[in-house]
Amino acid sequence: MTSTPALVINTSNAPMVKANIDRRPVGAKDVRVAIAYSGICHSDVHQARSEWGNDIFPMVPGHEIIGHVVEVGADVTKFKVGDTVGVGVFVNSCRECDACKSNLESYCERGPVGSYNGYDYNGEVQYGGYSKEIVTDEHFVLRISDGVDLAECAPLLCAGITVYSPLRHWNAGPGKKVAILGMGGLGHLAVKFAVAMGAEVTVLGHSLAKKADAIAFGATDYRSTADEQTYVDLAKKFDFILNTTSADIPIDGLLGLIKFDGALVFVGLPVESQSFNVFGVTSQRRSISGSQVGGQIEVQEMLDFAAEHNIGASIELLDATDPASIDAAWNRVVDADVRYRFVIDASTI
Ligand SMILES: [Zn+2]
Ligand SMILES: [Zn+2]
Repeated sequence: MTSTPALVINTSNAPMVKANIDRRPVGAKDVRVAIAYSGICHSDVHQARSEWGNDIFPMVPGHEIIGHVVEVGADVTKFKVGDTVGVGVFVNSCRECDACKSNLESYCERGPVGSYNGYDYNGEVQYGGYSKEIVTDEHFVLRISDGVDLAECAPLLCAGITVYSPLRHWNAGPGKKVAILGMGGLGHLAVKFAVAMGAEVTVLGHSLAKKADAIAFGATDYRSTADEQTYVDLAKKFDFILNTTSADIPIDGLLGLIKFDGALVFVGLPVESQSFNVFGVTSQRRSISGSQVGGQIEVQEMLDFAAEHNIGASIELLDATDPASIDAAWNRVVDADVRYRFVIDASTI
């Protein structure tokens, strides 16, 4: 074991404190990463505040990790000391089920191992990226291209792949009309990726407050879901709508904006069950679906695509010298008061 500084939450809702945690010795297939930046994801807050259940304390959140390789195990083939790398939402999967064999580790039937707030199959508790070092199997380590802004890259490891994977699956590209519902941490990256893929992108927001940003990111239109005229003007317009919000949404109205055979796809996670009028899907053979982060090959494809198209998150960089500043940032995440993603400078942990 080696000891590394981290931001630790000792019990549900407790303030963050600095403390040392143990990382496992570097195994034959492991990579030790010195963390440079760690993004803040809303799921960090949900889990540390026991809003999803199954929380394990003490907890070190963080699954948007960027750093540099400082040690490799004897059987590591993909990486060498000095490489710039990322670690995302998952750090292990069974490698044997149909999903794993299809490079869809995130849908592993045994259940993939989360980067924090979970146990590996051998019972080892997992601590995430709000720390100075992490030790991870090379299969779950990603290559970061030269020249990429590393702080802006960090949020791609969760938020980026969460929106990239469904955009690819539902074929966002030239000739396709895509609506992004909500423009927060997930939504702003969805706009950037969908535009780079060549789709015509409209943002649907609760208000018009972020319209100028959306247009700057490449969207061609921005409409309010609170305006009845939106449902008239945009009827049957979209090939699909990507819902990046975790709020309750007007599903019946939104289905009316979707073309024949189109889809309403959830990536945001509303707490309450959602309901809809079945006529809204049967009348135009529409689908309602959902998606989460992709498998490792797709995460790498997303990072390479982002580097090629100069896509990074729009961020506020945080200094963790006083851990209370990270708690304050979490409160702003809950209030949706961030444009558009917080990233912790790990050198200050
Ligand atoms: Zn996340
Ligand atoms: Zn599996």
